[in-house]
Amino acid sequence: MILVTGGAGFIGANFVLDWLADCDEPVINLDKLTYAGNLHNLASVEGVARHLFVQGDIGDRALVAGLLAKHRPRAVINFAAESHVDRSIHGPEDFIQTNVVGTFHFLEEIRAYWNAMEGMEKAEFRFLHVSTDEVYGSLGPHDDAFTETTAYAPNSPYSASKAASDHLVRAYHHTYGLPVLTTNCSNNYGPYQFPEKLIPLVMMNAVAGKPLPIYGDGLNVRDWLYVGDHCSAIRAVLSAGQAGEVYNIGGRNEKTNIDVVKTICTMLDALHPASPVTPHEKLITYVKDRAGHDRRYAIDARKIERELGWRPQETFETGIRKTVAWYLANPDWVANVATGEYRHWVEKQYGSQ
Ligand code: NAD
Repeated sequence: MILVTGGAGFIGANFVLDWLADCDEPVINLDKLTYAGNLHNLASVEGVARHLFVQGDIGDRALVAGLLAKHRPRAVINFAAESHVDRSIHGPEDFIQTNVVGTFHFLEEIRAYWNAMEGMEKAEFRFLHVSTDEVYGSLGPHDDAFTETTAYAPNSPYSASKAASDHLVRAYHHTYGLPVLTTNCSNNYGPYQFPEKLIPLVMMNAVAGKPLPIYGDGLNVRDWLYVGDHCSAIRAVLSAGQAGEVYNIGGRNEKTNIDVVKTICTMLDALHPASPVTPHEKLITYVKDRAGHDRRYAIDARKIERELGWRPQETFETGIRKTVAWYLANPDWVANVATGEYRHWVEKQYGSQ
């Protein structure tokens, strides 16, 4: 039995679906169901007995203690977080509450649970904390990619709150011996991503003939990884990573935002040559830059490749093709997610469209 947190969100849901498809070990999925948590992401495993969904907060100590005592997971994977940089700029408090205070309370319960274990159960237990490359700050155009020893220099309330959680996790290993693993991954894309993030936002707007907003000059660089490759990396770290170690995860896919958007537009043009919005590039609209926008992220993933033999399966070209195909093949999921909280956020961000 493993315990996954945040498993109704984008990466967590992909992880849970892949896990249940590939192995028999049951999963408890603890998720608060914030605006980003979406049970439609888990529709395909509804009724699967090996998946136990529990709605709740990682900071709810009584709930967490009860789940640990009842199910005795051999490992915990912590995806739960507030994850969107723009939201953290407009309202940092939720980020501090979940990513810092919530992680602290969660760690305390994990520590008590692990302390009370004995023998092999104790030796084999792992707490895997899922984090981001954004904790390392911003790179110049010719700087080397982030390694596991790059100094932390977070620039947004989001990345600062994730950095704080990473430091707590690290401290629980050094101070209490808790067997932790930390992963810092580059930007993910793929199925089930909430459309406040660049790739699903562009997909959904392009299909609907709406403007494709690009921050600043569009030349900010992100290092993209297909979500299935992130999930396989996490599994590799969980099964063979060394307790106390950090693993950077990335696929050497540095792209400017404008290149990403143009790639999606070109794919949509090919699929809908007769559409009145073709070429989709004409929908590109430059908007005021994000405050404190980091210029470039890039991950050096040689450690996980060398030590654990992990390699991504997708290139950016194959992964983005799969992703575009998935959004087009799942209009019900898109329609469902495009209402409610998402619409409210878009209107606040860009005005009514
Ligand atoms: P997401 O926003 O899609 O999902 C987060 C999930 O956590 C949601 O289901 C939400 O309901 C849940 N959650 C939030 N607060 C909670 C709380 N207090 N208790 C329990 N559940 C709570 O995020 P994501 O993109 O899937 O990211 C997952 C993790 O991976 C995060 O820790 C994020 O920092 C990290 N990460 C994301 C990326 C990326 O590109 N998306 C890249 C690297 C690392």
